[in-house]
Amino acid sequence: MYNTDMSKISDRLERINENIAAACSRAGRSGKKVKLVVVTKTADIEAVREIIELGCRDLGENRLQHFKQIATETDTFLNELEADADAPRKVNWHMIGHLQRNKVKQVLKIASTIHSVDTLRLAEEINNVAGKLGIRPDVLMQVNCSGEPQKYGVPVGAATHLAEQIVTMENLKLIGLMTMAPLTRNKDVVRACFVRAREIFEEIRGERAVTNKFRQLSMGMSQDYEIAVEEGATILRIGSAIFAG
Ligand SMILES: *Cc1c(COP(=O)(O)O)cnc(C)c1O
Repeated sequence: MYNTDMSKISDRLERINENIAAACSRAGRSGKKVKLVVVTKTADIEAVREIIELGCRDLGENRLQHFKQIATETDTFLNELEADADAPRKVNWHMIGHLQRNKVKQVLKIASTIHSVDTLRLAEEINNVAGKLGIRPDVLMQVNCSGEPQKYGVPVGAATHLAEQIVTMENLKLIGLMTMAPLTRNKDVVRACFVRAREIFEEIRGERAVTNKFRQLSMGMSQDYEIAVEEGATILRIGSAIFAG
């Protein structure tokens, strides 16, 4: 857990937004097409409260335990604000981490978007549970663009086929792809991974099977979000650059 330092969080967020805008302009893109998901996995509730007050409405978690705790505390906080007309009423929670099938139900009760669908069996389970809950969550398919065997994500060669299967599931909205670059300081390696994700994204988008909802490319974290923006990311998932100096 990091100590909350209000002004530092807002300073860091401002700097990140400036960097995103600069990367957009280098790439000739509109900044409006890039959404920031603030990853709260290392944040305490005071820090989360601050980030919501700063206007962030999309928050991400990767582990169910912290997810449940932070989401519950955030609900309490949002309810306290109810009297204030300008206050945020709702946060969109994103599940960004590896998801086990036996956790799907608990996650779907909190998250409106799941970024980490990487097997047919997981997709089927989310589809079943969503049907029982009467909801239709947004999902992204996680692709392993780095080829590292220890990483989650569907292998590049199997991505199009899995996407075709997911689109047929009536309780899921397949809105795009998610990927993680390898942990390296070598920017060329990181960029190559994002370029690969973008290519697969375009390839799947060209398929007749997917709908026009398939628009999101979730890639870029604290260390590599500027490269991700240059290569076409529409959703960034940033945690430590906001919460830990
Ligand atoms: C933790 C995490 C992030 C954010 O990482 P930072 O380096 O803290 O910005 C993004 N995506 C996933 C899947 C994560 O687990």
